[in-house]
Amino acid sequence: MLNIVLFGPPGAGKGTQSKLMVDEYLLIHLSTGDLLRSEIQADTELGKKAKLLMDAGKLVPDEVVIGMISNKLEANKDAKGFIFDGFPRTKEQAIALDELLKNHNQSISVMISMAVPERELIDRLLERGKESGRPDDQNEEVILGRLNVYKEQTEVVKDYYGAQGKSSEINGLGSIEEVYGRIKNAIKQA
Ligand code: AMP
Repeated sequence: MLNIVLFGPPGAGKGTQSKLMVDEYLLIHLSTGDLLRSEIQADTELGKKAKLLMDAGKLVPDEVVIGMISNKLEANKDAKGFIFDGFPRTKEQAIALDELLKNHNQSISVMISMAVPERELIDRLLERGKESGRPDDQNEEVILGRLNVYKEQTEVVKDYYGAQGKSSEINGLGSIEEVYGRIKNAIKQA
């Protein structure tokens, strides 16, 4: 199995690249952001609670996203592998993911980290907000808050996989195809 953590700050291009990877490697794309937005769409109790945090650019509690991922792993036991996008976002989530995968006799193959300068991220997110309608992409203050959350709570996840010798950093600037080429190289090397 090929289990990839696609890592990077908001706006790095994880969702765009995941689509290409799903088509080529036949992996299942698990984006906790997408799963949470589905809950909001369906107007569930979980969705209502999550929306308040998401619109403010804060993380939802670890146990919520870990539970969602656990359900998806259970429901897709025959998968060729997974792309984890926007998860794990804390060290606790990373530890929990290792545990969950271990229960399925699996492990993370590689963490691919996409590096993009902050000004570019802000511009991309504001641009995306015009079309996606995502409240958290339409307000520069919320965007800056999300980038701060990334630095303070999420970046440590890179060290977590680095310590396991599984971290691979690529340049996230350039055309979609250029960036995808770098991702394919990183997968080949892993
Ligand atoms: P994303 O679509 O990955 O940018 O996520 C949008 C929002 O959903 C984030 O700003 C968080 O509020 C929430 N979220 C998504 N994934 C996670 C996660 N792994 N841990 C905590 N909150 C998350």
